[in-house]
Amino acid sequence: MNLILLGPPGTGKGTQAERLSKKLNIPHISTGEMFRQLAAECNPLGVKAKDDYWGKGNLVPDDITIKLVEERLAKDDCKNGYILDGFPRTIPQAKALDKITSIDSVLDIESSGEVIIKRLTSRRQCVKCKKIYGIDVPPRHEGICDECGGKLEQRDDDKEEVIRERLEVYKKQTLPLTDYYHRQGKLIKINGEQPIQKILEDILKAVGKN
Ligand code: AMP
Repeated sequence: MNLILLGPPGTGKGTQAERLSKKLNIPHISTGEMFRQLAAECNPLGVKAKDDYWGKGNLVPDDITIKLVEERLAKDDCKNGYILDGFPRTIPQAKALDKITSIDSVLDIESSGEVIIKRLTSRRQCVKCKKIYGIDVPPRHEGICDECGGKLEQRDDDKEEVIRERLEVYKKQTLPLTDYYHRQGKLIKINGEQPIQKILEDILKAVGKN
């Protein structure tokens, strides 16, 4: 089962992808997480991507991102399917993906701008296990991960001025993908302003796995 989670930043793609991955036993592939990991490892490409692009709320160029995804999808653990979170984000990326693989369904998780700003400014992530917390999923102890005891931090690009830029970029470059996948008959709209468990149930139902 090859799935794409689409939707604006802060709509809950990462949270849903994490849960779907456990439920369906297929990997969660987040290009944003891959870029953050590369920067944390001081990989030159990762550091450049942070300084020139994602740290400012802009997209990393298509050729770099497509290559990264192509290499990741070629790995063994993807042979029974995967959940793409944050890729594709542009029409050229979607076209490139169509050449690499065949997508079954595209889940478009919709949320309003107001909900998104609230979620993103309150979002914190565990520096160790990468679990995401926020208004919908608060940690038991402030600043500490429930799962592994790691420190919770705000992402560099979850600062308000960067969030506004990311939402603009989403509208211009990523929103056209809904039409692209609608025309392919693969787009399924999911209400992202519901409790996390209900969103998960809606997704599972939509892909015939409830
Ligand atoms: P995310 O964690 O999905 O919000 O991604 C964080 C940042 O990584 C984005 O704001 C982009 O700068 C970069 N990024 C992630 N996925 C892509 C993509 N498919 N194309 C270009 N840039 C991306």
